[in-house]
Amino acid sequence: MSADLNSPVLVLDAGYQAVNVVPVRRALSLLALGKAVVVEEEGDKLVRSERMRLGCPVVIRLLIAIAHRVYRTLRVRFNKRNVLARDSWTCQYCGATGVPLTIDHVVPRSRRTRRYPDGGPHSWENCVAACLDCNHRKGDRLPEEAGMKLMRKPYRPRWLLALPWGRRRGFERWKRYLI
Ligand SMILES: [Zn+2]
Repeated sequence: MSADLNSPVLVLDAGYQAVNVVPVRRALSLLALGKAVVVEEEGDKLVRSERMRLGCPVVIRLLIAIAHRVYRTLRVRFNKRNVLARDSWTCQYCGATGVPLTIDHVVPRSRRTRRYPDGGPHSWENCVAACLDCNHRKGDRLPEEAGMKLMRKPYRPRWLLALPWGRRRGFERWKRYLI
């Protein structure tokens, strides 16, 4: 059975700490370049290239010398889809799921505060998933002014467990690296 090149692979740093999730395609290029080694693979699924056939990687580990540089290139990209994935496609004000979601700026872009003298930034730490009702209700106010409370403080994720690929293949085999 051949592997899906878009399947997710967990990436560990040299010290076995999880740093990101990448598609099989990207994992293979890190392996081919000698920047990573396979930690776990699925032997029953094969990936092929001109010269080799190997099990599909499930977990790979970056090698020491290049870990820092590659880690930086593997950072989770800031965009709407990844913010929604971080928030598990759940409105961070009312907890609604399965509804259309927007991105809410916790401190509105037009709002100047002591922390944000130029207005609320478009960043991981200031953006959350919000349903249309909550976004509308909050308007250009701070959550406390609108009597609304965030379920969780927004943060910059080191990796995304809520996979953009939509499937959780390999998840069981990732668990012990994610503690
Ligand atoms: Zn809501």
